Order: sequence, then C-alpha cells, then structure tokens
Amino acid sequence: MKKICVYCGANFNGDPLLKQSIELLAEVMVNNHIDLVYGGGKVGVMGLIADAVLAKGGQVEGVIPQFLMDKEVGHTNITKLHITENMHERKQLMSDLCDGYITLPGGLGTMEEFFEVLTWLQLGLHNKPIGILNVNGYYDFLLKQLDVMVEQRFLKPVNRELVLSSADPIELINLMNSFKPDVDEVWFRDRNFI
Ligand code: AMP
Repeated sequence: MKKICVYCGANFNGDPLLKQSIELLAEVMVNNHIDLVYGGGKVGVMGLIADAVLAKGGQVEGVIPQFLMDKEVGHTNITKLHITENMHERKQLMSDLCDGYITLPGGLGTMEEFFEVLTWLQLGLHNKPIGILNVNGYYDFLLKQLDVMVEQRFLKPVNRELVLSSADPIELINLMNSFKPDVDEVWFRDRNFI
C-alpha cells in the first residue's frame, strides 16, 4: 500500500490512548512510506492524524468539499488539498486515491464513510483492504453488530470477514497487507430462503 485513506472524527474526546494510537499509526505509515489521504480538516481526530503524519515527515493529501472548508476548518498546511464540489465527489476521490482504508474513532460521518466503502467492497466495486483501529474497545459494539447480522442472516459470514480489526496499528497494517479479497458478491438470498 502506498496511500491509506483514514476515516475519523471531526471531534476528539481527549482519550490519551487514542492520541497515542494516532501517533503510532502515523509512525507506522511514515516508516512504511505510506501516505495519508483524509477528509482535509484540521479539527478533531482528523487534524491530529494529519499533523502526526506531517510531523514525522510523511505526505498528507486532504479532500474537502467547498462548503466544509469553513465549517470543518480546512487544513491548509498539508502536502496537497483537493477541494471538491460536494460530498459525493469528496468520498469518490478519497477512495480513488488510496490503496486501503482505516477507520479510527469518529461519529456519524466516519460510520457513513466506513460502510460506504465496505458495501462497495461487497459489491465488487473495489478490492482494497478495510481496517478498523479499535482503540480502547471503541468499536466493540459495531463489530458485535456485524456478528448479529451474520447470526440473523442479513450478512454472509464470508462478507463479515472482510472487516479487518485490531487495537494495534502495526498488526492492523500487517492484516491489510496480507488481505486477499474473498467476496460473495451475491450478498442477497431469495426471499423464501429459510
Ligand atoms: P464525524 O465522524 O461525524 O465526526 O465526521 C467525520 C468526517 O466525516 C467529517 O469530515 C465529515 O465531513 C465526514 N462525512 C462524510 N460523510 C458524511 C455524512 N453523510 N454526514 C456527515 N459527515 C460526513
């Protein structure tokens, strides 16, 4: 992987372990010559990961729609800032630019971005690895919910396996590097299926 797209919150909750994980992720990326692609803001976890990669000498590309430049305070000191017309263009460009995705703690926007690329993987629209950096158990319930989807037969087990997760950035990047897409693109069953 040459570029990883990181989805993360426009807020930061002050968790020192999260701060530490962000620093470590940045270090692992820079040491492995992996550039950061992200939402382009300088607030919250977004700003922290961008600044951490820059501080370690890495390259950072931000992608932000014009209307969020003011609201989310676009980061103007990064390697490259792409300004798009709208959110759809932003998410498409972020996805096109990268070779894999990592989700850090965040809110609704982060979830929307994570599930969008996960569903695109399930549909066979890309074959890039998707990782969750599960810092401090933040995503335990999300991962559990995916298991419930499998138990309740709304998600095929093989597609559940597409989600890579670890609390450790090094392990997560290793998992992503060895990811071999094994997707069941026929994700639906006949309605009479019991
Ligand atoms: P959040 O996780 O809500 O703090 O948002 C993190 C990032 O997700 C921000 O850069 C948002 O602009 C972005 N985002 C992407 N899609 C959406 C969406 N549909 N609604 C809100 N935020 C979004």
